[in-house]
Amino acid sequence: MRFDLITIFPEFFAGPLQHGIVRRAREVGLIQVHVQDLREFTKDRHRTVDDRPFGGGEGMVLKPEPLFEAVESLLGRSVGDASSQDTVNPNAAIVLMSAAGKPFHQETARRYSHLQRIILICGRYEGVDERVAEHLATEEISIGDFVLSGGELPALLVMDAVTRLLPGALGNEASSQNESFNASLSLSPEDSVRPTREHGPMKNVLLDFPHFTRPAEYRGWKVPEILVGGNHAEVAKWRRAAAVEKTRRNRPDLLARE
Ligand code: SAH
Repeated sequence: MRFDLITIFPEFFAGPLQHGIVRRAREVGLIQVHVQDLREFTKDRHRTVDDRPFGGGEGMVLKPEPLFEAVESLLGRSVGDASSQDTVNPNAAIVLMSAAGKPFHQETARRYSHLQRIILICGRYEGVDERVAEHLATEEISIGDFVLSGGELPALLVMDAVTRLLPGALGNEASSQNESFNASLSLSPEDSVRPTREHGPMKNVLLDFPHFTRPAEYRGWKVPEILVGGNHAEVAKWRRAAAVEKTRRNRPDLLARE
């Protein structure tokens, strides 16, 4: 899988690309990451990527031309214009990072993990000319209900979540099966609800169960007896109950009956 990150701050990514699972995935060739400096697609002496908003108001807006041309250069083809919009490639996504986008969830990461190519557009300032969202991006994605100063952190977050789902990325495949938001942790039939995923976030999925490691007692706080005991059936039962309890406490919305 190939990721292209379009940004006005290419150096931003140096650190995050060099650690952990993303680093290893790059080294073994599971993913390729290309950081594209948006300013290479400017034509003036000042390498201008932004301009004042039509209609007035605060701040600056990223201009459409460098973004369209950057994406076209990456794709090696034109994306068309108002009179002839090109067909989209189902194996690639052009994702605009945007606080006003559709929410990014584990389900989104899973869908992306089947693509061959993801182009991530990082906004800055007040945002990006809306024609990018409407006619260049195949989706507009938000990583949460808060506003950041740029799309670089959101793009890294999407890349990380997708990369760790690629077969071979984690070393131990069970790790991405038994974790928060995974359908395999869903409530059992006795609970009379099934996982649903039609609209955005999965419902009726559980958060991960609590993990403990040595020492068995730390500052007087003990690890639950059952986990230390090593009876697998008992451990599984405890983990399920603890996951339900934790989901009720931290994310009751995930269990909401519809
Ligand atoms: N005026 C915009 C915010 C612009 S923030 C608004 O009110 O919605 C500048 C850039 O940061 C955005 O273009 C986007 O690329 C990025 N960004 C900020 N918050 C984000 C979020 N929650 N998810 C994804 N990208 C975000």
